[in-house]
Amino acid sequence: MNADRKPLACLLRTAPSSALVRGRFAPSPTGRMHLGNVYAALLSYVSAKSQGGAWLLRIEDIDTQRSKAEWAERLMDDLDWLGLRWDGDVVWQSRRTALYEEMLGRLAALGVLYPCCCTRQELAAASAPHAADGHTVYDGRCRVSPRRAIENPAGQTLRLMTPPLPDERAWPAGATDEQTFADEICGPQRLQLSWEWGDFVVRRRDGAWAYQFCVAVDDALTGVTEVVRGDDLLRSTAPQRYVQALLGLPRPSRYAHIPLLLAADGRRLSKRDASLAMDALRQRHAATDLIAHLCRLSGLDADRVLALAGR
Ligand code: GLU
Repeated sequence: MNADRKPLACLLRTAPSSALVRGRFAPSPTGRMHLGNVYAALLSYVSAKSQGGAWLLRIEDIDTQRSKAEWAERLMDDLDWLGLRWDGDVVWQSRRTALYEEMLGRLAALGVLYPCCCTRQELAAASAPHAADGHTVYDGRCRVSPRRAIENPAGQTLRLMTPPLPDERAWPAGATDEQTFADEICGPQRLQLSWEWGDFVVRRRDGAWAYQFCVAVDDALTGVTEVVRGDDLLRSTAPQRYVQALLGLPRPSRYAHIPLLLAADGRRLSKRDASLAMDALRQRHAATDLIAHLCRLSGLDADRVLALAGR
């Protein structure tokens, strides 16, 4: 736990906002929700609703191997059971292919995409590990020698260039290497895209869309103004804001990355933690007790939160 974090209680706003507020919960339906997912859902709900805003539900089911409609159905049933009602129609990423194609076309027209045909082994060799957390960053070898890609036209991954961009054109404001934003919980952030991410994938070899690209497009085009989610995604904000800037799309004005709930032994909760999965939780607790428990963990006023959820 980072000592500089602001208390989560700040997410329960004291007055409605005069500006339009649209928050969202964007789960991946790859298993039954667990307590950690409920926590993220609740805090994003509380933030949007305590400002009189809307709360959207987006099912992130682009990973067709791991996502299942059945999990999405149960997830919606769990939100219903908790009393967390979303506004408007559910957004299903799997149904937005035409939109993603259009946005990809726009990036291609800007000349900032390139095919990468590096194999897994080549990628391992072409990526520099970063000391901080061991993630790897692609060194851009297919950008530097595009002939390799043309020689191997089949099965190419598409990557988005991070700065420096190819020519002296006036690139949109915000399409910069250094991405800065304020996070309400984690404080001011400054990330250097080329160092933290390198040229990142927007479409995979098998045609699947990449998470960063879809989230950036969806948040912008569904008018999301605030992103409240787990702090495992803090770093992802930089590539997402970069994609939005390149496409000239609106960017959320507020971010709050919340600490993940951990299992008793300090591990990150996963969908395999049966005792904290919704099946078990629904058998053992009333929805109001569960919400009140999560409010205690995060220092939120449970009565106010329950009232927001119509309880
Ligand atoms: N779908 C992602 C997840 O379930 C969250 C995406 C987001 O909130 O931006 O971890």
